[in-house]
Parts: sequence; structure tokens; C-alpha cells
Amino acid sequence: MIFLRRVLLLSGAQALAVWAMAIAPDPGAIAFGTEKYVEYDAGDLPLVITTPHGGRLRPESLPNRVDGVTGSDLDTLELARAIAGEFATRTGHRVHLVASHLHRSKLDPNREITEAAQGNAAAERAWREYHAFITAATAAAAAQHGFAFLIDLHGHGHPIPRIELGYTLNEDQLGQSDAAFDASGLIARSTLRDLHARLGGSAAQLLRGPGSLGDLFAARGLRAVPSPEEPAPGENPFFAGAYTIKFHAAEPTTTKVDGVQVETYRQGLRDTAENRARFATVVAEVFTIFLHERYQYDFPTANSTTANK
Ligand SMILES: [Zn+2]
Repeated sequence: MIFLRRVLLLSGAQALAVWAMAIAPDPGAIAFGTEKYVEYDAGDLPLVITTPHGGRLRPESLPNRVDGVTGSDLDTLELARAIAGEFATRTGHRVHLVASHLHRSKLDPNREITEAAQGNAAAERAWREYHAFITAATAAAAAQHGFAFLIDLHGHGHPIPRIELGYTLNEDQLGQSDAAFDASGLIARSTLRDLHARLGGSAAQLLRGPGSLGDLFAARGLRAVPSPEEPAPGENPFFAGAYTIKFHAAEPTTTKVDGVQVETYRQGLRDTAENRARFATVVAEVFTIFLHERYQYDFPTANSTTANK
């Protein structure tokens, strides 16, 4: 942790990126930030899963946040661990997992630092450590595989039980026709900017056409937006994707990093251990197909990994 603190004294994202690899522990190791408010389980697969709102710690030494949303996303850390476990079983390897253990009433790492920590120095430190771990994870994955895919995992309480896929595109932007969306150039400001730059073609089709993440979830019986069936959220509440996915995947500097903010509804997906395990298998199937089709990446299989090591 001494080393991590030194890194955080440097300013700017670039310094962070340069040092990020140095703070990344070996795959399978677990690193913690100060007071164990933040956890990083280092992996060796191209997937990075983050959970900003699944924390339960409410230390008295940290003041309660007074502005913004303070309710947590119930069971999302447990869901992330179920997904990580499913990939470990299938592949014999690990996804990267970065979690905030602080309750959202103490820190919201999915906001810029002012709203996130509301001026408290210890909360600001946890925020910096959380994002430094994500930078370390995406840099390690990109160095190893040529790309990283960031899944920022959340839970919503919206009336419609559908998975909301946030590419940092809002309802108005998604509400356009495919032709208008393609002509808008908005994909270059989304979390699939690097993938689209590699593949070309219709940006709208990449987001919501056949083989899109929404399509792959829908094909497994789970409503998702955007998808071929539901290309835009319409008038209904929808989370377009916030700070984490924007900062780590949608900026011009985040080359080789793509991602999505995955907002899950609770009942049937994350409310019980059984449902989390079932949904974890769906997530593993979806990303196995998506990464194969879009990145020509195939996950290792558990019984063949020793031969490759
Ligand atoms: Zn959330």
C-alpha cells in the first residue's frame, strides 16, 4: 500500500497509467486499498468487472454523503463474485474484479470525485484507489490480450424488469433511426468506440443489431435494451452509463478498452444465490460469444489450461 500511495501522489491519468501495471498484483492475488475500502482481485482474462455500489461498510469515521443518490445496488458484489466464479470454473483463469466495499452513503465511486466523496479526504483516497485499480486492471488486460472489456455491474429498481446496457448513450441518442445514428458519429464518444474503430460497419447494428450484447441476452430469454427487440428505452427510466464507464472506456485516451454499464433488475437475476448462479452462466455465455465474434478472442477451457502455461 505504501507503493500505491506514492503512485497516487502523481498527477494525471497518464502518470496513473504508466504506474498502473506496477501496482497490479499477480493473477489470482488480491490487493486492498487503505482500510480495505477497495478490493482488487487480479485476473488474467480480458474481462474487468467493477462494482461501485455493492459495498456494505459504513465506518463512523466517514461522514454520510449529503448530495446525490445514496442507496446501494443490493447483491451486486455477490453477483460479480458469482460471475467471476463461473468464468473461473469454465476457463481455469480469472476475470479482473474491482469492488468498493464502502456503502454508497459513504462513497459513490461512479461519480466524479467531488460528488463521489463530497470533500472528505479519506473518501477521496478510496475513490483514487478504486480508479487506480481499474486502470491497472484494464492496462494489464490490454497488454496481455490487445484489448480489455470493462463490465461496470449495477442493479436498478426501475419498473420494467429488463437489463439496461449503458454505452454512455442516452434515450434521445438511442431513439434515432439506425441511419441517423450511424451518421451522427456518436459511436466515437461511446464505450464501444475502439471496437467500432476496428470493425467499422453500422454503429447502430453493433450496439443493438444481431449479435449485440442486447441481442445475446434477449436470445436467452432476458429482456435487454438496446437490443433488436427494444432498440431504445423510450420514455421509460434508463441508465445510460456514468463516470466509470465513461472515464475508463469512452475517452479518446482509452484505446484498447471497451465496455458497458450493465444494470440488472433484482428479482430472478440477483436476489438469491441460485438466481445469481443461473444469471452468471448466462453472462458467461453472452460474453463468450460476443468476444469470439467481435474480438476473435476465445476463452481458454479449464481442462486445457495447464498445457498452455
Ligand atoms: Zn449503481
